[in-house]
Amino acid sequence: MISRLDSLLGEQQVSTREADLLCYGFDASQIKGTPVAVTWPETINDIVKISRFSYDHDIALLPRGAGTATTGSSVPPQGAIVVSLERMHDIDELNIEDQYVVVQPGIINGALQKELSRHGYFYPPDPSSLNFCTIGGNVATNAGGPRAIKYGVTRNYVKELEAVLPDGRIIRTGAKTIKSVVGYDIKDLLVGSEGTLAIIARITLSILPEPETIVTLLATFTDLEPSGKAVFKIISSGIVPRCLEFMDREAIKVVESYSPTGLSDSESLLIIELDGDVKSVQRDSERVVRIIHTLKGEVKVAEDSISRERIWKARRAIPAALFSIADTKINEDIVVPRSQIPEMIVFLRRLSEESGISIVSFGHAGDGNIHVNIMVNREDEERYTTAKALVKRIFEKTLSLGGTISGEHGIGITKAEYINMEIGHNEMDLMRGIKRLFDYKNLLNPGKIFP
Ligand SMILES: Cc1cc2nc3c(=O)[nH]c(=O)nc-3n(C[C@H](O)[C@H](O)[C@H](O)COP(=O)(O)OP(=O)(O)OC[C@H]3O[C@@H](n4cnc5c(N)ncnc54)[C@H](O)[C@@H]3O)c2cc1C
Repeated sequence: MISRLDSLLGEQQVSTREADLLCYGFDASQIKGTPVAVTWPETINDIVKISRFSYDHDIALLPRGAGTATTGSSVPPQGAIVVSLERMHDIDELNIEDQYVVVQPGIINGALQKELSRHGYFYPPDPSSLNFCTIGGNVATNAGGPRAIKYGVTRNYVKELEAVLPDGRIIRTGAKTIKSVVGYDIKDLLVGSEGTLAIIARITLSILPEPETIVTLLATFTDLEPSGKAVFKIISSGIVPRCLEFMDREAIKVVESYSPTGLSDSESLLIIELDGDVKSVQRDSERVVRIIHTLKGEVKVAEDSISRERIWKARRAIPAALFSIADTKINEDIVVPRSQIPEMIVFLRRLSEESGISIVSFGHAGDGNIHVNIMVNREDEERYTTAKALVKRIFEKTLSLGGTISGEHGIGITKAEYINMEIGHNEMDLMRGIKRLFDYKNLLNPGKIFP
């Protein structure tokens, strides 16, 4: 049956080679799937053909960007056809006058940033994976990033979407205007839908002019709690940093031994970045320094782009560096109200000490989003079971503090068993109804989100 797909698309656009099935069979969660074919559509019409084919033959589809999802959301279900959007990577339109860009889903976030900066513009959502994840994947997961604290997440920038429904119908939703309230907002439903409702084929995004200046500060602390306090003291003083990132002692240590960048040996650190006009950035950075000093922290200011890049290199190296601790990372991205960060990070430290399992915390503390990484060797069954049990305790604590179990990575496979901890019965029923309405045959990325 799959060989018929060859005649629908070009020969170079379909593969059943074992190597391709293997390479497109997993994502950053390390979970492995078993697809039957990989396809590379080059136009929206190709996506329509693949969708109709799968609909007629009851074959599941997995839309895939770069496979950097950490939740298993881009792992193909058994027997599925992978729809890799990587060849659809063009910028179709750049409109500086109305400040938007129209892109194909497979464009890499970092490549779009580079092109925009040539025009003095930027696209704010900047996941730490920006050098390899796609904009289509970012939309499907409503990705955030360090700049979310000031500029928001992907949803805040998606103006219009063109998408293909599981039966091959094309929809266009949203508008290029600043405002639009015509009917239900289907566009916002597709943002964050993890490839379960439609295949996103063209995206219109808002863009912003680059700020006049950027200053990066590195604050280090000899204790854990003051860094958490600094986060909400900075924000409650009225300063809105562009980024406010947190690393605990374990994260600092692991990154320094993996790729030394000169981070001092401390209990915790914050990367604080301010942007805007020169005068206000200078005034705010002086205020930040004073706040850090009252909490007995030390601050270094990175004046030039080389020292800024060194700090960000260290921050971006953490996910890879973690594998020097153990071969498996149980990775969560909880969010708590900012005022609860000190309590949450102290809780995580205690949980690690009590269980004897390494827990490394870092992340976008400015918006309360902490990446919690439980590190364990997979073949050690007993410790792995203990580590898995910690996830529930972490989620219970998060929810008791008024938080949410995922800020940006989504549910995928790994968090599906916990979704009921946060989402009530009636709301789950509504979500299932929406899924049925879009995908009556349950062919688009089945087995994700719903327990
Ligand atoms: C080192 C590292 C750092 C990361 N840092 C961040 C971070 O700071 N912030 C953050 O939010 N995330 C982060 N992530 C997670 C991940 O990069 C994001 O979720 C990203 O948006 C996924 O993009 P992708 O192109 O890799 O999508 P994939 O992993 O390929 O797909 C993710 C989901 O989107 C769906 N999808 C992909 N393309 C489409 C499409 N065109 N139409 C419909 N559905 C589609 C897939 O089916 C899947 O459900 C990080 C991951 C890694 C490995």
